[in-house]
Amino acid sequence: MNLDLNFLLSPLVLGLFGLCIGSFLNVVIHRIPLMLERQWMADAGAQLGDAGELSRAMGLPADQAEKLAAAANALSERIEKLPKLGIALPRSRCPKCGHQLAWHENLPLLGWLRLGGKCSACKTAISPRYPVIELTCGLLFAALSWRFGAQPSTLLWCGFSACLLALAAIDWDTTLLPDSLNQPLLWAGLAAALLGFTIPLDDAMTGALVGYLSLWSVYWLFKLVTGKEGMGYGDFKLLAALGAWLGWQMVLPIVLGASLIGALVGIGLKMNAKLREGRYVPFGPFLAGGGFVVLFAGAPRVLGWLGWA
Ligand SMILES: [Zn+2]
Repeated sequence: MNLDLNFLLSPLVLGLFGLCIGSFLNVVIHRIPLMLERQWMADAGAQLGDAGELSRAMGLPADQAEKLAAAANALSERIEKLPKLGIALPRSRCPKCGHQLAWHENLPLLGWLRLGGKCSACKTAISPRYPVIELTCGLLFAALSWRFGAQPSTLLWCGFSACLLALAAIDWDTTLLPDSLNQPLLWAGLAAALLGFTIPLDDAMTGALVGYLSLWSVYWLFKLVTGKEGMGYGDFKLLAALGAWLGWQMVLPIVLGASLIGALVGIGLKMNAKLREGRYVPFGPFLAGGGFVVLFAGAPRVLGWLGWA
């Protein structure tokens, strides 16, 4: 039994498992923002589709309200007619020509390598992002096995890391940090502490609280002083989740590290004119990066770097 666990949670086996999870993350990263945006549009269409309500709330003449409501209803109908989009369905397709991927083309890492990074039907280049996410997830899982050994909590840290990787990539692409990932990550962190797998429960609870409130206060201070929004509520929730998994002691080090690296990357992108006007560098990937550093270095070493130990 013990030997089995040693094998199943060995760096090699867990690394291969990580490649498969990475393949799943590619779907999550691609589809969750689309699903969210569709949901927002559907909600907007449903809310704006009532001419009486529009006329009452906006003080519009009936004919103008009718026109607006008709446009909203057309939007709703259009969204309803779209093919269903979920995490499991439809099967992965080439975004260019619609070619449905065969199982061997969908294999993590190997599929992309065998295809030479091109769609087998239309030869359009497939972004190296896909194998990079798969490889990153595989290496993360292998490193976690090496770092924490063959014990059940290693699997929890794998789940934490996979979720963090997905959030970082989605935020980088879309500047969104979906609640559908952020919230479970927070609750799972508290539950893991409650069940005694990670850190003491009071460290986790305080971590969630300090994580949320620290960025929330910075947000409001920044908004009062400059009138601008420096980050979003998703960032507070992500830091709350990191606090729940890693403890309140790690919240400030993560924020400091993330701000420093984030600012450097922002300046770098600006100097290379890679950052379009009006766009901003998302904070989430750097918070997630801070979380990974703490996870692998360990809290005592991080505090030591800052001279706080
Ligand atoms: Zn194609």
